[in-house]
Amino acid sequence: MGKPTGFKEFERTLPEDRDPTLRILDWNEFHDHLPVDQLQEQGARCMDCGVPFCHTGGIMANMASGCPINNLIPEWNDLVYRDRWRDALNRLHKTNNFPEFTGRVCPAPCEGACVLGITDPPVTIKSIEQSIIDRGFKEGWVTASPPSKRTGKSVAIVGSGPAGLAAAAQLNQAGHNVTVYERSDRIGGLLMYGIPNMKLEKWIVQRRVDLMAEEGVQFVTNTEIGKDLPATQLMEEFDATILCVGATKPRDLPVPGRDLNGVHFAMEFLHGNTKSLLDSDHKDANYINAKGKNVIVIGGGDTGTDCLGTAMRHGCNSLINFEIVNEPPDERAANNPWPQWPRIFRVDYGHAEAAAKFGKDPRLFQIETTEFIGDDDGNLKALKACEVDWSKPTPDGPPFSRVPGTEQTFEVDLVFLAMGFLGPEQIIAEQLGVSTDSRSNFQAEYGKYATNIDGVFASGDCRRGQSLIVWAINEGREAARECDRYLMGSTQLP
Ligand SMILES: Cc1cc2nc3c(=O)[nH]c(=O)nc-3n(C[C@H](O)[C@H](O)[C@H](O)COP(=O)(O)OP(=O)(O)OC[C@H]3O[C@@H](n4cnc5c(N)ncnc54)[C@H](O)[C@@H]3O)c2cc1C
Ligand code: SF4
Repeated sequence: MGKPTGFKEFERTLPEDRDPTLRILDWNEFHDHLPVDQLQEQGARCMDCGVPFCHTGGIMANMASGCPINNLIPEWNDLVYRDRWRDALNRLHKTNNFPEFTGRVCPAPCEGACVLGITDPPVTIKSIEQSIIDRGFKEGWVTASPPSKRTGKSVAIVGSGPAGLAAAAQLNQAGHNVTVYERSDRIGGLLMYGIPNMKLEKWIVQRRVDLMAEEGVQFVTNTEIGKDLPATQLMEEFDATILCVGATKPRDLPVPGRDLNGVHFAMEFLHGNTKSLLDSDHKDANYINAKGKNVIVIGGGDTGTDCLGTAMRHGCNSLINFEIVNEPPDERAANNPWPQWPRIFRVDYGHAEAAAKFGKDPRLFQIETTEFIGDDDGNLKALKACEVDWSKPTPDGPPFSRVPGTEQTFEVDLVFLAMGFLGPEQIIAEQLGVSTDSRSNFQAEYGKYATNIDGVFASGDCRRGQSLIVWAINEGREAARECDRYLMGSTQLP
């Protein structure tokens, strides 16, 4: 522990984000770094607790508590305090293949479990993580490190999101020949085409992909397994296969008027926007443009917030965000104690930007859409919604009921549905005969990752359901370990 009194001396400080009214004029990242001396002070706030809950990741009350990849947080906090950045980087890479992603977009369940957080604001773990890896790249410390020998075994990985990339990186290090298949034109899964540029600039994703390619991983894009190539062919050509295809089936809202022009799934909006941005700086106009439109985003979470931030950058005319849940409290409720993930009211970047431009937070809570209304040409022009009451479940129906007399009509040109995802597409499971669970996810035990088909593993969102980047990295790393054990009879992978 670098400074025993650090947590008493220094207050939690984060770098200031760029001004919301200015950052909506571009697609660049809005986070910055603290200067080195202030980062050292933030590292010094870590108490190096005897039992550091921050790195003991697990699930509590259905949410992550602590770091799911068990990052050695107190160790690198201490090394940062002592100005030993290269050692801090080495410790960080021991558990995390991609700190430049998690340091930017992880919700930081580590901070929710930080022991200092019981009485004071927690250590700024995520910001320190990002600073360590960004400095590592800047100093040239992060370089390709191909394995010294090859085993002669080959592995196919289907899907190039964080689970597929983590599995590929680990198996390649173990000396296997790894080929990653991706149906999109770019590698990265939701790192590339889900999370928008202002949260994670895409050259940062590509930089890591290029390093992995230099280390020997083969990437095959524009190839959908199950359609362009039968899944059974992978089993014939490779010694093992890991499915990392994500949970891409979106939840729909089957109310009257759903088919009107202007009602879209969130991913149609987000994927098209990033692709057009990367392909042509939006010059090809090949995306859904919210400029001058009245926009309603239905659903919260990361996907809803990313739709808000994207619509703001297009220059929408108005922006509302429907949340069906109750507004969370400002502080932890009694039934949500430390070290659980704090279920509190948060202002994410998209909310802050909408509030800065339109004068108020865009969210309306406890509201359900009942109908979309169109004009004579089939274009969306309004929607009807009503309030819901969670204290009165509907018998044989949802756990809430509609409040009579609260129906309102909202003028709207564009609606984005961000109501979650319902598991993976089924074509590969059907072709290979992979069993699925009651939620249609590929069935494979956590920690083992083996499906019912010999030599076929599953990890990430397609196994656990839509989750977080950090869980996908955890599952990709562990699936690689189990796959290595299957191929070699034993494994040294963590
Ligand atoms: C809009 C959005 C924003 C998010 N923001 C955050 C965030 O800020 N922080 C966070 O921690 N989590 C966030 N998440 C969740 C996070 O992105 C996912 O949990 C994570 O990416 C899952 O990783 P994965 O590798 O399992 O799958 P994915 O990232 O979904 O990757 C799966 C890949 O498989 C490919 N694929 C599918 N089928 C085939 C096939 N048949 N053949 C070839 N390729 C195929 C897909 O094209 C895709 O590239 C967000 C999710 C969304 C939708
Ligand atoms: S990966 Fe996420 S949970 Fe783990 S230390 Fe980083 S920010 Fe915290």
